[in-house]
Parts: sequence; structure tokens; C-alpha cells
Amino acid sequence: MVPRKFSLLLPVFLLAVPLSAQQQTPSKPKPRVIVVGVNGMELDIIRPLLLKGQMPNLSRVIENGAYGKLRTVSAPNCPRVYTTLFTSTSPEEHGVTGFLVGGITANTNMMKEEPVWSMLSKSGITVGMANVPATFPVMPVNGYMISGMLTRGKNCEDGVLCAPKLSEVMGGDAVYPKSLQPELLKNVGDFYIDCERMPAAADLKGHETELINSWLDKVQVIRDQQTKLFDYLLTTHPTEFTFLAQSCEDRTGHWLYPISPFNVGYNPSINSVRQDAFPNQYIAFDKVLGSILKHMDENTYLIIFSDHGIKPLREFEEKDPHAHMDHEKTTPVIAKHDFADGDDVPGSFFAMGPGIKHDLRLMGLGASVYDVAPTILHIYGVEQPKQMRGRVLTEIFEKSDNKVAAKQ
Ligand SMILES: [Zn+2]
Repeated sequence: MVPRKFSLLLPVFLLAVPLSAQQQTPSKPKPRVIVVGVNGMELDIIRPLLLKGQMPNLSRVIENGAYGKLRTVSAPNCPRVYTTLFTSTSPEEHGVTGFLVGGITANTNMMKEEPVWSMLSKSGITVGMANVPATFPVMPVNGYMISGMLTRGKNCEDGVLCAPKLSEVMGGDAVYPKSLQPELLKNVGDFYIDCERMPAAADLKGHETELINSWLDKVQVIRDQQTKLFDYLLTTHPTEFTFLAQSCEDRTGHWLYPISPFNVGYNPSINSVRQDAFPNQYIAFDKVLGSILKHMDENTYLIIFSDHGIKPLREFEEKDPHAHMDHEKTTPVIAKHDFADGDDVPGSFFAMGPGIKHDLRLMGLGASVYDVAPTILHIYGVEQPKQMRGRVLTEIFEKSDNKVAAKQ
């Protein structure tokens, strides 16, 4: 394995300070930034919901901020894009090229470039992260980190698209610092760290309605647990930079995208059961967003992004003609995102906060996943390191030379 180009070590003064004391800022308050990642949020699905008034919280963010498509990388999938966003370097540079790298489930030990949370930690900014994909095993930060998608555990040995509980994690730490784990078990409960595994085609056959409904019920249980976790962390462990993520939306879309008989893979015994299932994920997400918005104040920036969209099958796959059946080896997948041309499935970007323009729509694909980390560093006045390929999204700020509330 290629050694990292960055050090995990935090300055000694940060490591010596207990979690609670780190959160008290001595002088002028630094900006607060809350980032919410929604895995695979698809604008084609959320736009009708916004028009119908079914996502009032996201509508509020759009009215009071900037939004648009977010260009993603080729063959986008969650670990590949998230790590690109963390580091603003290409998948080949940061090393997390997919779910599996050299036959091993992607993990933070593979990351060869420095992620934004490490840079912020070293700059004395408090960092809190929960359920962010591709953050297992957790890394030391100036605050806390709870891993997300790709966490390994009981009945989820490879960590790929399954849902271990916090108490069932194996093969690494899911919580930093370790002392936070018993506190979470006591106050939040033994929550699922990732979303539910999708059912196999063989299990579905003949039990479609029953299995689809029970799977969706469990997804809602997981989302309720996540909402409780986020609310607990934002209330009892507020940090200057907070990064939270959701992953159930994408998984629902893969096999319950509301496709029509025209589309490839349409199977009425599955696809006519719950046509509302995928849109409903976003209505449910909007409620989670509502509980996060309660923690905003006039000094807080909110960035919501998706790493890619998701579309019905649209590409011949010469290497594996059955690949469309195979998001997790066996699931009857009818929508995907890892198309060769990432521009087929752009993600989305929403930002609101002090000095960010209101009601600004970003046209085209000018904003990219590479630009998110530089823009976050800019808000804190931290210099963008030269390896970062993205740029600050200056067009979202009111004035180019007075963009941020409390630039250091
Ligand atoms: Zn996916």
C-alpha cells in the first residue's frame, strides 16, 4: 500500500484538550458550517416534490441560498465520490477508486491525500462527523467522528451496503474518541450505522409486496435513529464544522426507482408495488433536514450535496451484461449511477449562510464535487493546499472580497 502523504497527528495541544473544552471558542466566534451529504439525491425526483410543496425545508434553503447541479466523477459511486469531495483530488490520486480497491473494501487506511476534516482540525477548528460514507475506521479529529457506509460488522463482514449496529462493529473503530461510544449507546441507543442491505432477487420472488414493505419500514427505523443521533450530537457536542450523511435514499432508488414499463428492467411484481417508495425517501429526508435546521443560527452555513444522481438503466455494459442485476451481487437493480459518463448523473449542491446569495440557481455543470472542500476551507480562511484540484465557488457569495461572516 502506498503510504499517506499526510500526517494523522494533530497538534499536541488539541489532543490534550477534552472534547467539551475544545468546543468553547475563546474570542471571536469562527463560522459554523453544517454539511449534509445525501447519497445519490436525484434532482429529477426532488424537483416535482419541491413544486408540490412536499419538501418545505429544502425549499427554504433554495429560497435563502444557492443551488444547482454538482458535477461528479466518471463511474461515480459513493466511496469514490465522497473521497474525491473530502480531498479535492482525483480517485487515482486519493486511492479510493470504488467500493473495493484491490479486492479489499474501501477504508480510510487507503486514503493517500489529506481530507478536509484533517486540515480543519489542524487549523484549530472543531470537527464533528457522523455516518459519512468511507470514514471507517474513524480517524482522529479535533472533535468526534462516527463512521458510516462501509463500516464492517456482524452480518456485514465486508461492510458493503449493509447495516451493522454500533455494538456489532468489527475490524476497526467506528467512534472517535472511544469514550463517546458508551455515551452514544446510553443516550441514543444501539443505532444502525448504515442503511439496510437490499434484498436478493431469489428472496423477493413471490413475496414482493411483503418484503418491499418490511424493508421500507426498516429504512424508516434507521432514519429515525439517525435523526436522533444527529440531534443529540448537534445539541450536546456542537462543533464549528459538522458533517452528517444519509444513505438510504440511494439504495431505495436502485431497486424501487419509479420506472415505467418502457424502461429496461421493469418488473411489475416489484416496480408497481410502491411507486411512492423512492420519492418518499426525500420527503422523509426533508424532515431530517428540518431537525438539522433548528441548530442553525446567523453565523451558520449549511451545505447540502449529493455525490451523484441516479437514473434508470441507460448504458450497455459489455463486460458484464447482467451488471444491472447486481448492485450488491443479487439485487434486481433498475436504476444506477456508475455510468462511464458522470455527467449523465450529476449530483446536487445547496448552500445557505452569511454572505451567500439568495435564490441563486447555478446553471450547467460549473460546480463540481472537487469544489466543495476548497469552498469550506475558504469559509474558515484556511489556505487551499496545492494538491486540491477544485476551486472556491465564489459565485455563490455576495461579494468576492467580503464573502464570509468571520474570515480569520
Ligand atoms: Zn448506489
